[in-house]
Amino acid sequence: MKNVIVTGASRGIGRAIAMELAKRGYRIAINYARSKDRALEVLKSIREIGGEAEIYRADVSSYPEVENMVMEFHRKYGNIYGLVANAGIYIRKNIRDMSIDDWNRTIEVNLNGAFYLVKAALPYMERGSIVFVSSQLAFKGSPSSVAYSASKAGMLGLMRSLAIQLAPDIRVNAVAPGTIDTDMIASYTLERRKEREKEIPLGRIGKPEEVARAVAFLLDEDSSYITGATLDVNGGLYIR
Ligand code: NAP
Repeated sequence: MKNVIVTGASRGIGRAIAMELAKRGYRIAINYARSKDRALEVLKSIREIGGEAEIYRADVSSYPEVENMVMEFHRKYGNIYGLVANAGIYIRKNIRDMSIDDWNRTIEVNLNGAFYLVKAALPYMERGSIVFVSSQLAFKGSPSSVAYSASKAGMLGLMRSLAIQLAPDIRVNAVAPGTIDTDMIASYTLERRKEREKEIPLGRIGKPEEVARAVAFLLDEDSSYITGATLDVNGGLYIR
């Protein structure tokens, strides 16, 4: 059974990724930071479908916590095949209102968190596959957070360099989701949702499961000749 760590797997897109990968036969390290109850629900759901998983608390912005999680998972189950750097935060503030702490926290969780995961897990990966969950805002900028778009663009720079440095044994790719129906867009009013839906060529907001299937494709051998790529999962909202 191949071992995969999914960060931020207690809710939203990360939860859907953990479920999809468990269905495909991977053993999952379900990482969470604050939502233990939600992480336990994911664990229960995976076990109900006959899958294998464990929960691990670690704030991805802390290297010692990430290293500890990776070492515990490895100690129990052996080599790691896959990593999904999904944990993320989006502090919606204009540059004029954004504090230095808001900026630092966003970069620490979204960008440093992805780097820490790879750095800590690499000694335990012989061959495998890594997927970063970036965002369409890496390409087109964000009206509400300079830190978020900078962190998501940074993840793509990290991904591309890793794809070169870790080839041929480890492939590294990213997905760039558009607007996906999770807690991250919970602040949207009904009116804003409707406006957004009108802007999306496929006419609706995406589901976490739709991102999860793209991540699973990039993690699996199905994508054996793909590395250094970013797959848009955005209903056509931003076509590059
Ligand atoms: P979400 O529903 O808000 O879930 C965020 C997840 O990240 C939670 O599981 C949370 O865990 C975890 N997390 C946050 N801070 C963490 C930390 N410091 N350490 C470890 N885990 C942490 O968000 P989502 O929409 O599923 O987003 C998942 C990823 O997709 C993010 O990287 C986000 O930027 C990206 N994305 C989302 C959208 C969208 O429209 N939803 C679009 C593009 C990209 P706890 O609850 O346990 O803290």
